[in-house]
Amino acid sequence: MLTGRTRILGVFGDPVEHSLSPAMHNAAIRVLGIDYVYVPFHVKPDALGVALEALRALQVVGVNLTIPHKEHALQFLDEVDAEAAAIGAVNTISCRDGRLIGCNTDGAGFEGPLTDMGFHCAGRNAVVAGAGGAARSVVFRLARAGAHVVIVNRSEKRARALTDDVNKHYPESVEWLPAAATPEVCRAMEQATIVVNATPAGMWPREEECPPLPLDLFRSDMLVYDLIYLPQETRFLSAARSAGACTVNGAAMLVRQGAVSFEVWTGLRPPEDVMCEAMYSALTRRNDG
Ligand code: NAP
Repeated sequence: MLTGRTRILGVFGDPVEHSLSPAMHNAAIRVLGIDYVYVPFHVKPDALGVALEALRALQVVGVNLTIPHKEHALQFLDEVDAEAAAIGAVNTISCRDGRLIGCNTDGAGFEGPLTDMGFHCAGRNAVVAGAGGAARSVVFRLARAGAHVVIVNRSEKRARALTDDVNKHYPESVEWLPAAATPEVCRAMEQATIVVNATPAGMWPREEECPPLPLDLFRSDMLVYDLIYLPQETRFLSAARSAGACTVNGAAMLVRQGAVSFEVWTGLRPPEDVMCEAMYSALTRRNDG
């Protein structure tokens, strides 16, 4: 039951009705029995500054940001942590003593499941397909953990910008290749022990698509990670599993980034199995509806 003491969390997005975060966070709140509520707020881009300012007045504890606010929000914050500043995007804001503090939990969401599996990125060669928002968090994390990353992307502009940005912080840790079946891309795959799909290729409802990588070069000593969570096994992951590789889908990252945000706001570690179940139930309801 909501009372005058209930503390407010939420997500700002435009649109926001697709967001799975309310289901995940409210499930965790219920199981932990704490007096919080997590509310979706439909915030248009031109109202973002006013909406963020209102967090102070309303004493909202914190919000997530989703499309299209992650980059635009930076200018309205009092403080941004080093990782979010480097990536150039925030997905989590805390309102503490009237100050708006931003961070980005996507990188931790990506790396956490790897660490849990005992996979450490230091000294590894990685191939990442894509150079968009999600790839930025992934590549920064891989480079920070000591991996060497080859980005494979269709457009040169985004690939080059991400490569330059990461190399400024972690010199010579990243290079990029155009998305084509070239000997260079094959060599990068042959040297890689972790391969990541950070493109939407293969995501429902276009499940027949694959990211631009030679899938016949998957090996059993690889870890293959797809950021897509619907379907749970993309064609990309299915090919990796057939080659005997260890596979991880995007549900692990989605739940972990939410869990890290939850801990930032409440100081409590939420039950990730409950969050994952709530996320897939919400996804099923959304697709059935
Ligand atoms: P984005 O900013 O739009 O970037 C998409 C990237 O994928 C771009 O580099 C684009 O290449 C490339 N791309 C798009 N369609 C492609 C295709 N058909 N073939 C090859 N390359 C293609 O998107 P994003 O926010 O980074 O999201 C990427 C994926 O990650 C989505 O599937 C999203 O659902 C998923 N994601 C998952 C999580 C999670 O928690 N699991 C979190 C964030 C995102 P160009 O630069 O050439 O256009």
